Amino acid sequence: MTMIEINLQTVRDRIVAACKAAGRHPAEVTLLAVSKTFGAEAVQEAYAAGQTAFGENYIQEAVQKITQLRDLPLQWHCIGPIQSNKTRLVAEHFDWVQTVDRLKIAQRLSEQRPPTMAPLQVCIQVNVDGGATKSGVDPEAAPALARQIAALPGLRLRGLMSIPDPAPDFVASCALFAKARALFDTLNAEGLALDTLSMGMSADLDAAIHSGSTMVRVGTAIFGGRPRPV
Ligand SMILES: *Cc1c(COP(=O)(O)O)cnc(C)c1O
Repeated sequence: MTMIEINLQTVRDRIVAACKAAGRHPAEVTLLAVSKTFGAEAVQEAYAAGQTAFGENYIQEAVQKITQLRDLPLQWHCIGPIQSNKTRLVAEHFDWVQTVDRLKIAQRLSEQRPPTMAPLQVCIQVNVDGGATKSGVDPEAAPALARQIAALPGLRLRGLMSIPDPAPDFVASCALFAKARALFDTLNAEGLALDTLSMGMSADLDAAIHSGSTMVRVGTAIFGGRPRPV
C-alpha cells in the first residue's frame, strides 16, 4: 500500500467513526481530497485508491492538473479565493466552485460557463467568525445572495462552505460550525433546496461532522505536509 492509500483509509475510518458518534450515515458525508501544491502523480495515486473528488486553491496550478488528468473521471472543486480576472478559467475547467462570496463573481461565472458543460455547482462561502479580513459573506447577507445566485443560468447553487478559524477544542469548533449549520437550515426553510454544507478539514473534521457537515475538505491527512505554506 502507498502512503496516500493508507492515509485515505485512515481518513475514511475517521469519517465513519464521526458519523457513528453523531448518529449519522457515512454516505451523508463526501470526502474532498485537497491536492493543492501536490502534483498530478499524487492525484493519480489517490484516484487509484478510490478517490474521485479533488479540491484546489490556486487556479493556474489546478488548470494544469485538470488538463493533465482529463482522461480520468475526476471531479474538481475550486476552494481558493477567486479574483475577477480568474473567473473564466474557473468556469471553463472546474465542476464545482465553493468560494463564491459576492454577486459579481457569480455573474461572471454564469456568463462564462460554456453551454456545452454541465452547470457549475456552487457553494457560497460564509464567514461565521466575523473576522473583517476574512473572505466569505456575512451570514446576514447570505440569504439575499443565495436567492440571486440561484436565479443565474449556468450555475446550480448547492450549498454553503465555511472555513472557521482553528478553535481550541471540539466544543469550540462545534460552536462555530453550528453557525454555518443554522444558516444552512434557514436557507432550506426558505425553499432553496441546498444539499451541501462543506466544512471540516484535517484537524476538525470530527467536529464538523458532528455539526452537520456533508463534505469535509482534507489535505494534510491524505497527502502529508505541504511543500510550501498557504
Ligand atoms: C488547504 C485547505 C483545506 C485542507 O486543509 P488541511 O488542513 O490540509 O486538511 C481545506 N479547505 C480549504 C479551503 C483549504 O484551503
